[in-house]
Amino acid sequence: MKYLIIGGGIIGTAHAYEALKSGHQVIQLERDDVARSASVRNFGLVWVSGRKSGAELQTAVRARQLWDEIHQAIPELLFRPNGSLTLAINEEEVAVMEECLRKEDASLRQWQILDRDETQRINPALRGNYLASLWCPLDATVEPGLVLHSMREYLLRNDDYIWRNNLDVVEVRSDGSKAVVIARNGEIFEGDIAIVCPGADHTSLFKEQLDTAPIRRVRLQMMSTAPLDEALTTSIADGDSMRYYPGYEVPTLQNLPPQPKVASDNHMQLLMVQRADGTLTIGDTHEYAEPFEFKLNEDPYTYLHEVASNLLGKKLPPIIHRWDGVYSQVTDGGICDRRVIAQNIISVTGPGGRGNTLAPAIAEETIKGLS
Ligand SMILES: Cc1cc2nc3c(=O)[nH]c(=O)nc-3n(C[C@H](O)[C@H](O)[C@H](O)COP(=O)(O)OP(=O)(O)OC[C@H]3O[C@@H](n4cnc5c(N)ncnc54)[C@H](O)[C@@H]3O)c2cc1C
Repeated sequence: MKYLIIGGGIIGTAHAYEALKSGHQVIQLERDDVARSASVRNFGLVWVSGRKSGAELQTAVRARQLWDEIHQAIPELLFRPNGSLTLAINEEEVAVMEECLRKEDASLRQWQILDRDETQRINPALRGNYLASLWCPLDATVEPGLVLHSMREYLLRNDDYIWRNNLDVVEVRSDGSKAVVIARNGEIFEGDIAIVCPGADHTSLFKEQLDTAPIRRVRLQMMSTAPLDEALTTSIADGDSMRYYPGYEVPTLQNLPPQPKVASDNHMQLLMVQRADGTLTIGDTHEYAEPFEFKLNEDPYTYLHEVASNLLGKKLPPIIHRWDGVYSQVTDGGICDRRVIAQNIISVTGPGGRGNTLAPAIAEETIKGLS
C-alpha cells in the first residue's frame, strides 16, 4: 500500500517508520523545512514511570521496547536507557512513593524506593536536599535535536520512502479508493491511505472534526542551561511531578503540602535531563487557557533554577536558552485521538506530554489496524 503521511513531527515520523517496516510505500509531507514544533521542543523523555495504569502503561511499555529496536537500527538518535529518579523532599512525598510501590503494576514500572546513599550511588551529582527517591530504570531519553533528522536519514535509505518538506498541505480528500493530498503550491499526491499527524495545528485540516474532538492545546515553558561540569547520569523529576502524572494517583497524594504559589499558578513540576553536550534541559509549566500568552514569564524560570539547584546541592549553570512549546492533548483519558475522517483518511494527534514516549506504539497500532 502507499501511505501519504502529513506532518514531520515524531508522530508522523513514527508512522512513516512503522509503515515502511511493514513493507509499504510512504510519502511524508511537512509544511516547514524541518519540523520545529513540539517534537523538537521537548525533553526527549521516554517516560514510562508516571503512566496511567492499564492501557496507557501497557502502551508505554510497548513503546519503550520499540524505542530500543529503533535505537538498534538508528544509533544516531542517541537513545539512552538512563532511568529516572523522582526526588522526595518531605515525608509526605515519601509516603506517596511508598503507597505507589504497593500498586499492582509497580513491578511492571520497575519502581524502587532508594534512600539518599543509594540515590547518590546511581546519580552522584545529587548532593542536595532530598530524603529519598523513586527509581525507574525503564525511563529513557533521546536527543530531541537529533531524533527526527536521524530517523529521516535512515528512512531515506529505503527506496520506498519519499520526504517532501516546505509543502503546506491544504486539502486531504477521499476519491473513491484513493486518498488525495493537495499542497498549497498545487502539487497533488495520490495514495491508498492518508494519515494526518498535525500536532497542535487543529485548524488547517479537518477543523470541524477536530473542533468537536476531545482534545485541547497546552503551552509549556522550557529552558536550557550552560553545560553542567559533571554527568547527570539519570533524568530527574521533583515530587511535584507526582501531582501531574496519573501513575501516582494514590490516596496519600491528597496529603502533599500545597505547592509554592508560582508553581501552582503555573501548574509546574521539575523535569531535568542532561543533553549529550552537557547542557541541562529543564521545565516545565502548563498553560491551558487560549489564547496563550505570547510572552515568556520569568518567575517560573527563577523558581525551577532554584529547585534544581537545591537538589544538586550547588548553583545550576546559567540559563542560556528559553522557549515555549504547544502540544495537543486528549481530554477523555485515551492514549491519543485517532480519528477516521473518511474510509482512507485517518487523523492522529493528542498524545499530550507523552507523545515522544508513546509515538512508536501509537504508530504500530495505527498501521496494524490498517493492514
Ligand atoms: C515543551 C514540551 C515538552 C515535552 N516533553 C516531552 C517529553 O519529554 N516526553 C514525551 O513523551 N513527550 C513530551 N512532549 C510531548 C511531545 O513532544 C508531543 O506529544 C509530540 O512531539 C507531538 O508530536 P506530533 O508529531 O503530533 O506534533 P508536532 O511535533 O507538532 O509535529 C506536527 C508537524 O506537522 C506539521 N503540519 C501540521 N499541519 C500540516 C499541514 N497542513 N501540512 C504540512 N505539515 C503540517 C507541522 O509543521 C509539524 O512539524 C513535550 C511537548 C512539549 C511542547
